[in-house]
Amino acid sequence: RIAGLVEQQLTLCQWPQDWFQITRSIRQSGMLLNNTGSSGNSLTKALSAGPGRTLDMIEHSGLRGRGGAGFSAGKKWRLCREATGDAHYVVCNADEGEPGTFKDRVLLQCHAGALFEGMTICALVIGARKGYLYLRGEYRYLLAHLQEALELHYSNNLLGCSILGHAGFDFDIEIVVGAGAYICGEESALIESLEGKPGVPRIRPPFPVTHGYLGQPTAVNNVETFIAAAYIVTHGSDNFRMAGTEQSTGSKILSVSGDCRNPGIYEYAFGVSIQEILDDCGADNVQAVQIGGPAGTLVAHRDFRRRISFEGVSTGGSFLVFGENRDLLTVNQNFARFFAHESCGFCTPCRVGTRLMEGSLQKIVDGRAVAADIEEIKRLSSLIMRYSHCGLGHTAANHMLDSLRQFPGLFEKRIMQQAFSPQIDLEAALE
Ligand code: SF4
Repeated sequence: RIAGLVEQQLTLCQWPQDWFQITRSIRQSGMLLNNTGSSGNSLTKALSAGPGRTLDMIEHSGLRGRGGAGFSAGKKWRLCREATGDAHYVVCNADEGEPGTFKDRVLLQCHAGALFEGMTICALVIGARKGYLYLRGEYRYLLAHLQEALELHYSNNLLGCSILGHAGFDFDIEIVVGAGAYICGEESALIESLEGKPGVPRIRPPFPVTHGYLGQPTAVNNVETFIAAAYIVTHGSDNFRMAGTEQSTGSKILSVSGDCRNPGIYEYAFGVSIQEILDDCGADNVQAVQIGGPAGTLVAHRDFRRRISFEGVSTGGSFLVFGENRDLLTVNQNFARFFAHESCGFCTPCRVGTRLMEGSLQKIVDGRAVAADIEEIKRLSSLIMRYSHCGLGHTAANHMLDSLRQFPGLFEKRIMQQAFSPQIDLEAALE
């Protein structure tokens, strides 16, 4: 764990959202959350190092995209830099929509300067003159704050023409607000949406890095990744590599919520164990945690020694705690409802399959299911995962299969209860 946990009281009443109008202790540690980075330091260093050496630094740091997939940021930037096109673009994915994830919201509120610097450093490396910050529709209330931070950057010549006096280095950032579709967090759907089209994921390859926004080379990274890039340029790649593991360097910011006494934003060096996080957030008698949102991994109590990293349990940032009294079937039901609602409808396996899955779970929760329904769920899961068009469908049944594998008794109990229940609704059971 990064040395030294810092207790910081953040009065969140300033955030104009009723459900967020509470004062909460957010325990912060380490690299990114304590790094304001809006002074222009990282950009000054990048400009003096030049694009080539800055890219070497990012590559040497081992920085991987913080969205969960973990593709090397340096490799992505190099591919984009080497791709030919009329123009190159930088896109920041601030479409944070994974249930249980709210860390980018805090980063956008508290570290917008570092984010804009990270995007500008990327522009320097890949040769872009234009960047977009794609903001989640539900975060529209952050727009005024972000515009203010952007204007400050322009007035300090950290954006615009001849940035920090470097003739020929021009870069502009525009903020575009999404319309609230979860699928637009997928980078190619995000680009479609940026172009003014429905957010339907593209067939890949070609990848955005060569054929992205308007068919031009585009580097897409999320908020945390750009802030990490600014940190690396300021503090050096060796400093960054000091935290984390060989394959997962640096730190990871987690949104911790659920059945614990201290929910909030936590930053850990990669390699932290699940049990350590549970100890820090005050979670006792935990039966399982869901890591990486509904599409992620369900980890049962016996595996709490597993570690957060790309080679271990990977996460975009969501860490949901389920206490021993939490009904995991209801949790699964909520996840299934989420996927059915957020399916973009483009392909049949996902559009229809997620609805069927939602219905099957409802049947189990209502006590109307028979053993054959479990087999049907497994068959349906395999179909959705294998034949869907994009990642949403490929992962939509993960939560269900994880639960069946790790908590089979949960399902069997509901079915047996139904079999012996005197209040059994035969008509519904046969439906
Ligand atoms: Fe849309 Fe789902 Fe098909 Fe992805 S898998 S394209 S979200 S319908």
